Amino acid sequence: MAITRRELLTNIAKAGVPAAVAMTTGTPTMTAQEIPVPNTPLGLLYDATICIGCKACEVACNEANNTPADVDEAKLHEAPTDLNVLTRNIIKLYKPEDGSSSSFVKRQCMQCFDPGCAAGCPFEALYKDADTGVVRWEGSRCIGCRYCTITCPYSVPRFQWKGINPLITKCELCSHRLARGQKPGCTSVCPTGAVIFGPRTALLLEAKRRIKNDPGRYYQNRVYGETDNGGTQCLYLSRVPFEKLGLPELGPVAVPAKQLRWQRRIYEYFAMPALLYAGLVAVIRKNITAREEEAHQQEKETGLRAQL
Ligand code: SF4
Ligand code: SF4
Ligand code: SF4
Repeated sequence: MAITRRELLTNIAKAGVPAAVAMTTGTPTMTAQEIPVPNTPLGLLYDATICIGCKACEVACNEANNTPADVDEAKLHEAPTDLNVLTRNIIKLYKPEDGSSSSFVKRQCMQCFDPGCAAGCPFEALYKDADTGVVRWEGSRCIGCRYCTITCPYSVPRFQWKGINPLITKCELCSHRLARGQKPGCTSVCPTGAVIFGPRTALLLEAKRRIKNDPGRYYQNRVYGETDNGGTQCLYLSRVPFEKLGLPELGPVAVPAKQLRWQRRIYEYFAMPALLYAGLVAVIRKNITAREEEAHQQEKETGLRAQL
């Protein structure tokens, strides 16, 4: 059972620094966990060969997640060029200079079977839903270390720069809509069927059907995500090499299985100093606020005296 940030801070307050030091010098705070196999992994199938780049899915994603569109009014509604804290889904254009095939690509969280983001998170703020396999974020467990943004092999999670406890955002497969029996926003509006939603097994069958029906249309006649990075729940078809679309060749073993488990152990030893740091920052901020209020009060009193 993961411990919440509130519980951790309370424990620090109760136990004091000696206990915290003991935890940092010897006693592991967590044990490494097996990656659970979801009951019904859900995902997306994106076929770049039929995407027309209309960006309807971007708009629908913002609407579905109740986030404002990230447009720069001063620059005539300039659109975002990459994922960011307001943009969980983006359509990019790959256009090679040699004039060979260009392609659009939809980028969002891949819903990895063995997610690097979750492996990197010291407090399980990112975790896989046991039923759907969707990788969710629980803000109450997040200490704002932003480590997940480094350990994701697809550079997906984004965070607010402001604040010691920032909001981490990434596609969570519109889980709130799934709970209401609705499809994800992006798949509800795509005019060409370039992005569709469903159980991963059905999506994989559909991808293979498309390859079989049109051999040679797709790069290496393969589905990205079937085995890449240990398998992902969001699958891709493309006519151009996947790497050109920002989908790296990671091989069949998930990055966490290869590299990150040991980092989790290290994190167990560094988690408490990070929390102590967060606690200190909170105390400093509280003192600054108190001083500002005091100064404000003095100003008011001085003003009143001047009026008398
Ligand atoms: S599933 Fe939802 S959050 Fe994810 S890209 Fe589609 S609309 Fe955006
Ligand atoms: S793509 Fe990145 S953020 Fe999404 S589940 Fe995989 S590791 Fe996590
Ligand atoms: S709505 Fe469909 S066709 Fe339009 S950009 Fe998104 S995936 Fe491509």
